[in-house]
Amino acid sequence: MNEAQTIKAQVQPITECKNLINDEAFGSDSVLPVYNPATGEQIAALHEADAQIVDRAVSAAQKSFQSGVWRDLTVEERQSVLRKIAQFVDEHAETLAGLECLNTGIPYAHLLAGQIRRVALNFRFFADYIGQSEGDLYTQNPDYLTYVRRDPVGVCALVGPWNAPLALTTMKLAAALAFGNSCVVKASEQTPMTLLALMPLLQQAGVPDGVVNVVNGSGVVTGAALSAHAGIARISFTGGTETGKQIMTLAAQNLTPVTMELGGKSANIIFASADLEKAVDGALLGIFSNNGQQCLAGSRIFLESGIAGDFIDTLITRTQNIRVGDPFDPETEIGALGSKTHMEKVLSYVGIGQKEGGNLLTGGERIEALAPGAFMQPTLMQVGDNATRLCQEEIFGPFGVIQTFDSAEQAWALANDTSFGLVSYVWSENLSTIMDAQKRLESGLLWVNTPMVRELRAPFGGVKDSGIGRESGKACEQFYTEEKTVTLPVQSQILTKLGNPDTRGS
Ligand code: NAD
Repeated sequence: MNEAQTIKAQVQPITECKNLINDEAFGSDSVLPVYNPATGEQIAALHEADAQIVDRAVSAAQKSFQSGVWRDLTVEERQSVLRKIAQFVDEHAETLAGLECLNTGIPYAHLLAGQIRRVALNFRFFADYIGQSEGDLYTQNPDYLTYVRRDPVGVCALVGPWNAPLALTTMKLAAALAFGNSCVVKASEQTPMTLLALMPLLQQAGVPDGVVNVVNGSGVVTGAALSAHAGIARISFTGGTETGKQIMTLAAQNLTPVTMELGGKSANIIFASADLEKAVDGALLGIFSNNGQQCLAGSRIFLESGIAGDFIDTLITRTQNIRVGDPFDPETEIGALGSKTHMEKVLSYVGIGQKEGGNLLTGGERIEALAPGAFMQPTLMQVGDNATRLCQEEIFGPFGVIQTFDSAEQAWALANDTSFGLVSYVWSENLSTIMDAQKRLESGLLWVNTPMVRELRAPFGGVKDSGIGRESGKACEQFYTEEKTVTLPVQSQILTKLGNPDTRGS
């Protein structure tokens, strides 16, 4: 057996993906298939939670919240549980990476070194944060002391996507738990396995039953029932923009606050003044890492005209050398896309682009030798018009779209001409160009001369159609707690005695 086969042989899929409520597994009559996108094989059956099962999960979470088994623990006690979870995730990293690889098609090596480490980091980060967070105190009025308590909000609905399932969903889970809440979590119906595999680790670490409950199912059935539930205090969502709008519509009926981490079509702007070797590496990482399925992808590559010719030649050569194949193979750089249907959608943009006058530079085809797996060639197209669908719609695959510009002014205008605004990338060694960029680009994040850095301490999130709200230590504290302003007198007070005739006129 080669290395890939050895790793794969050790992965035990969770073949029945049920709903976990109060540590009890609930099946359902509605069963959906779960696939390995690298082989096209069905690997599990997912038991879809209907509104009744969702209601049971929310009730279990509410009960656990009201009982105080988790919310009333001291900060030190909660920190200790969160740190144990992180430790268990590290100890089970290979198992979790194996399951995630099997279910998503993302390269195993990338998962093991990146996303699964990030899962552990999420829990460690929030454990540290709650030990250091500070409160607000107002002492301007000499007669009164006023301070702000932060109480957990109740039951949080946490809804995750399929492109980085456990890493993204546990950012929400670690935060909601750290601040004392109970949760109902829904993974994408495409990728339910790692969340289910995490559940015993939470329990082993000391999370009481009922504090974290899992419901599985499609967005329209399970996700919608959860989003519409009146017992939910917060909804944190990561996924597509249209889904985000639907969830907000449901949440509005109960005035449930939401955070929305949505889609992107980010500009990667490369000036002639850049370190071009680094910019090539950065452009390739920006569009092709995580199989190109990233909200953060630098999917619109803007090149200053003077450097475009050589830069494109290098990009093409390097793209053609990218190793696409078995996600379990440690040498693989791009694995299988999330599903065959998704791959077909990504590939359909080749035809769309060509009709719009786009020039296919490389790729653009399914890799038939790897069928029925959902493998496609990494693809680059050049386009002359930013108004095209190719430049305006999120393709969400290994598919970069290249345009050129002649001036910084034009670059800012093209970059901002999009409904999205998650991240911008800019490459230049010229400080005033960078200073212009940080002022002019409309996005929640800006990466300067680097492809991708997630600083957990700092706000993460998008503007425009890329989202509402932020994730970070402070932002999550604001979202997952309710402020209560408490005022008390500094000294014993003499109060006006309403209804007492003896004190009238005095
Ligand atoms: P999706 O919107 O299809 O699904 C995300 C989740 O929402 C799934 O769990 C799904 O079951 C659920 N859902 C779907 N319809 C629903 C409804 N009507 N009510 C409630 N829940 C519903 O997204 P996806 O295809 O899983 O993920 C890809 C998208 O996520 C891309 O657009 C990507 O850019 C975005 N994304 C954003 C970020 C970010 O941080 N901004 C990170 C990763 C992915």
